[in-house]
Amino acid sequence: MLPRWHVFWGAVFTVVLWYFARIDWIYLSLVFLSSVFIDLDHYICGAMRTRTLHLGQIFDYHKKMSKIQKTERDNGIRRRGDFHIFHTIEFHILVASIGLFWMPFFYIFIGLVFHSFLDFFYLMNKNYVYRREYFFFRWVSKRFEF
Ligand SMILES: [Zn+2]
Repeated sequence: MLPRWHVFWGAVFTVVLWYFARIDWIYLSLVFLSSVFIDLDHYICGAMRTRTLHLGQIFDYHKKMSKIQKTERDNGIRRRGDFHIFHTIEFHILVASIGLFWMPFFYIFIGLVFHSFLDFFYLMNKNYVYRREYFFFRWVSKRFEF
């Protein structure tokens, strides 16, 4: 899902939380920011692949990969995409675990889960669910052949 849609839906979600739960604005900010900036792993991955920190070139990389994945899907090729560590179940569990002891991470976790639901429905809608690696340890075991 494009970042602008995460900004939009993250803002809507944050306003809904504010309306119904009257959560402190600092915590609401954490929900919003984490619902958007979880995608920082896309930037990091793009930076590693393109060997640049230039945001425009990284966007171009993701656009190019998006066209390739569409072509592959249309030709029946079901290949995983780049690995995004913040989108793994283990990362969510780690943040939730810290959130049990330190409240700000609880709200970061809420933002992460909201973002992940958006991503999942987007991937389902586009028939790309197979593209993502959801488990860090499975990725590690495949990558390093444990
Ligand atoms: Zn995402």
